[in-house]
Amino acid sequence: MRFTLTDEQRAFRQDVCDFLSRELAPEIVDAHHDPNEARGYDWDFCLTFRNKLAAQGYVGIGWPKAYGGAGRDMIDQLILAEEMEYHGAPGMDGSLTYIPQAIMAYGSEEQKQHFIPQIATGAITIFLGYSEPEAGSDLSALRMQAVADGDDFILTGDKAFSSEAQHADYGWIAARTDLDAPKHRGISLFLVDMNRPGISLGGFTTMSGWHHPTVSFDQVRVPKTDLIGEVNQGWYYIMGAIDFERAALGNPGMASHAFDRLVSHCKHTLRHGKPLIDDPVVQHRLAELYTDLEAVRLMSYWVGSMHARGLQPQHETSLSVLVKRETIRAIDTYGAELLGPHVERRPGDALAPADGEMVHDYLDRMYFSFAAGGFDITRNVIATRGLGLPRG
Ligand SMILES: Cc1cc2nc3c(=O)[nH]c(=O)nc-3n(C[C@H](O)[C@H](O)[C@H](O)COP(=O)(O)OP(=O)(O)OC[C@H]3O[C@@H](n4cnc5c(N)ncnc54)[C@H](O)[C@@H]3O)c2cc1C
Repeated sequence: MRFTLTDEQRAFRQDVCDFLSRELAPEIVDAHHDPNEARGYDWDFCLTFRNKLAAQGYVGIGWPKAYGGAGRDMIDQLILAEEMEYHGAPGMDGSLTYIPQAIMAYGSEEQKQHFIPQIATGAITIFLGYSEPEAGSDLSALRMQAVADGDDFILTGDKAFSSEAQHADYGWIAARTDLDAPKHRGISLFLVDMNRPGISLGGFTTMSGWHHPTVSFDQVRVPKTDLIGEVNQGWYYIMGAIDFERAALGNPGMASHAFDRLVSHCKHTLRHGKPLIDDPVVQHRLAELYTDLEAVRLMSYWVGSMHARGLQPQHETSLSVLVKRETIRAIDTYGAELLGPHVERRPGDALAPADGEMVHDYLDRMYFSFAAGGFDITRNVIATRGLGLPRG
């Protein structure tokens, strides 16, 4: 087993770091910072940055060359994802990763020709429309209906937690096309133009200040050409797309960033006249967290190397994402404990320790425990698929 990157991989990491340091220089970040947007930047800046990512060839880095991608392997994709997360870059969400990969795998030739070039140049935004008010972890309980009518389907129902739908040009929408089939078998996927009549937006604000849209569909007419793949096969496409998504999710970038920020805070914050970092109790806890961080790093590259060797990791990916997210939560929680009496002050408040960023992330990342395959569900996957334990 080799634990180091090749010269080419190290050179690629340097290129990515140079690009990110240039495009996310402190004065640029300060000018465009917006804690109420999901990515932490105002939307115009996200679009500009996405165009630059595309010009750099990073958007299609893992796509086949036939679709204008760079066809690079999973280790390069991991390096890019890691550095993007470490630098807090806006951009590589599902719209640019697993949705185009799913279009390439399951879409019609016409859909590929229409959508892939536009995604590759950063021209369009697509939101993920799976969750509903009564369908979260159990996605197969979704109720939105798509009824065939001539050359169209008519979509009616509500989507919840639709991240960034307020900015989206299209929705990647799961809807029920057969009410009589078993729950998993009557679902289809659509790429819906958000300008169609009958679509309206609502929403709410999370405790970290992030606006979360809800999207209602009232008799929305969608041409049959906007169906992805075969009717009633949506569940299989969703599972396939989730695999594309998880591949780079376990990268250690966000955990490394949270850890480095915490160490910096401990170095620059005085308690009883001495830097926090001089306290042996603090040192001990930081050493424990660093050990966890190293485990995250090794696991993520272990999973990446399986992909690069043509293997199909399954529970291994769940394990790597779980350990990563639990480590981030542990770092965030220790950071919040160290912040002292002003812990509740938010970004923008002059008295907020560490500019309020640590507590913002502590609140924001609580969703790791329950969303996108939260901790309990991920443990179930590892137990049944990894350890072969019986289903409870
Ligand atoms: C910040 C954020 C962004 C999101 N973005 C999107 C998006 O863009 N598009 C989209 O479609 N959705 C999105 N979601 C929705 C997200 O995927 C759901 O929140 C998630 O599926 C959980 O659903 P729920 O909130 O209804 O919780 P529930 O499903 O009600 O779960 C509640 C709790 O019960 C646990 N639980 C549920 N079932 C089981 C089980 N079988 N075994 C063990 N434990 C279980 C869960 O882990 C959780 O802790 C987002 C959510 C958040 C918080």
